[in-house]
Amino acid sequence: MLSAVTFASHPNTNLKTFQKMKTLSCKDVGFDCEAVVKAGSEEEVLQQAAQHAKAAHGVTVTPEMAEQIKSLIHDE
Ligand SMILES: [Zn+2]
Repeated sequence: MLSAVTFASHPNTNLKTFQKMKTLSCKDVGFDCEAVVKAGSEEEVLQQAAQHAKAAHGVTVTPEMAEQIKSLIHDE
């Protein structure tokens, strides 16, 4: 009786696994680069893209660029 309850009691446990990922291709931003940033939210993608831009291209992402980049992010 107890084991039957255990199996059915966590319907939301795997919700995050099925969440759509947001992706951004570096080349869509205008770089000659094959890097693709993937994350669970736009904010995370932006954060990772900013880190990548700085590390790989020596570019600091300004708020204006961030707005532009946001429009280039798409669902996987
Ligand atoms: Zn890049």
